[in-house]
Amino acid sequence: MGPGSPSAAERCVFCDIAAHRSPAFVVFEDDQTIAFLDIFPFTRGHLLVIPKMHGARLTDLPFDHQTALVRTLDVMCHRAERLAPDYNLALNAGRNAGQIVFHVHFHIIPRYGEANPFRATSREPLGDDDAQALVRALSAG
Ligand code: AMP
Ligand code: ZN
Repeated sequence: MGPGSPSAAERCVFCDIAAHRSPAFVVFEDDQTIAFLDIFPFTRGHLLVIPKMHGARLTDLPFDHQTALVRTLDVMCHRAERLAPDYNLALNAGRNAGQIVFHVHFHIIPRYGEANPFRATSREPLGDDDAQALVRALSAG
């Protein structure tokens, strides 16, 4: 385990995705960051952008990892605009703010004019066929 890794007892699902130990629909990757589709999207194309280094929240990361994350956010916000010009960008820090996965991540949530997608009932699991279409739409090129 590298610096910033959680202990073995606190296995982290996003560290597993960053290390390719767990599957994900990845649309971008560089040395310090990775972006993939949320498996329980609020809207079509809901993306997560994470640092490869483990940290529960943004302020746990060294500054160069924070800036790498923002650089990737810039790339991914531009690509999200391939789906819709509008989107929400969100970061939940702490349980009271709705954080469920304690490895820092930004959400990019495309908006298509729906009233309020931020309800548990509006979330359907990501389907494989659409995920593959989205990976094609959101990958480089
Ligand atoms: P948060 O409430 O900000 O911690 O959001 C965590 C997000 O991670 C939720 O939107 C989940 O649907 C998403 N999520 C959890 N596990 C995975 C996974 N294995 N692959 C992709 N997205 C995930
Ligand atoms: Zn982690």
